[in-house]
Amino acid sequence: MISKKMKIMVDSSSAIRAMFEEGRRLAALRGEDKVFDFSLGNPNIAPPSEVADAARDELLSDDPVFLHGYMSNAGYVDVREKIADWLNARFGTKYSPDGIVMTVGAAGGLNVALKSLLDDGDEVVVVSPYFGEYRCYAANFGGRLAEVPALPDFMPDCEAIEAAVNERTKAVIINTPNNPTGAVYGEDVLKALAKTLDRAAEKAGHPVYLISDEPYRELVYGGAVQPYVAAFHRNTLTCYSYSKSLSLAGERIGYMAIRPDADGYEELCSACSVATRILGFVNAPSLMQRVVARCVDVKPDVRFYDRNRALFESVLDEAGLEYVKPQGAFYLFVKAPDGDEAKFCERAKSLGILIVPSTSFGVKGYARAAYCVSPAKIEDSRAAFKALAGMYD
Ligand code: PLP
Repeated sequence: MISKKMKIMVDSSSAIRAMFEEGRRLAALRGEDKVFDFSLGNPNIAPPSEVADAARDELLSDDPVFLHGYMSNAGYVDVREKIADWLNARFGTKYSPDGIVMTVGAAGGLNVALKSLLDDGDEVVVVSPYFGEYRCYAANFGGRLAEVPALPDFMPDCEAIEAAVNERTKAVIINTPNNPTGAVYGEDVLKALAKTLDRAAEKAGHPVYLISDEPYRELVYGGAVQPYVAAFHRNTLTCYSYSKSLSLAGERIGYMAIRPDADGYEELCSACSVATRILGFVNAPSLMQRVVARCVDVKPDVRFYDRNRALFESVLDEAGLEYVKPQGAFYLFVKAPDGDEAKFCERAKSLGILIVPSTSFGVKGYARAAYCVSPAKIEDSRAAFKALAGMYD
């Protein structure tokens, strides 16, 4: 028998995966061309060519023992140096390699951060809608989420965040560009948030860390700029990932960055390094560490996603469906016309469209469509979306 705790997690975390399985079932039944699967945030463009070049060069290196061996739990020192230097040059930060911990993607980084910060019963503030896995990540370490609804424009509600803080609050997680809304927090928002966190720390009686979940940092469109979150607040733990920017989701590689002026810096760095080991990761994948260190300057092809965004928006506009206009990431948050997201997704499914109900992100009334798919798939879904909207006439 599995544990009671795990049973709850299995039941609550399977919605998006179940959708994926449903897509496979429908494709077998109706044919691949009649299924429009927008359920998963899995990039469908190949990694930039520099990634394969770097992997090939590394594999041909004359020291396979070094390449494939164990290392310091935080990762190769030269890789962490490279990333610290690159961040400092790009964002004007002052990271040292000690403050960089290579992680198993952003998911690994978030778990390492929460393992390092949480005692049983501690709280983590999240801005809803939020990436549903946060619930399980906090629960992994006896923590629970305090959900604070975003403002109507999907920006964080700083007053409500401050009000939600208490002596058990250890961290606030933000995610910009945002999954599922595509919202991008600008400079003013981040400045206000930094002040909120300073006040929150006073209220809690200890530091309240800002955990910045950044897998979509490089994916912004239409002139939007994503300021570097950690530049605004010293107690920021940045969790970056190459899953989306370099299309390396299955390779599981990212890093955490901790500012040297963060409260408890040395203890935090050691805790994150030890957490990496004792969570069973031991260290982030070694070949991929070396590859990303060679690819720090490689940019994703944002134009591909931007064209998909425009195409998908035209499909929804033509159908007359409302959505949140995204500035980044690769998701559209579509309004259920009568506010019932479960019915909306069921009706969509009956037409071969797979989208995720917003309850997976802690809110009602919407569905998330991922547009990291082929443009042809989006174009081909046009008639099905019209038919979906027609069900509400
Ligand atoms: N955070 C958010 C907001 C995500 O959307 C995802 C993946 O979709 C993750 C974290 C996990 O990303 P990774 O593959 O880097 O673990």
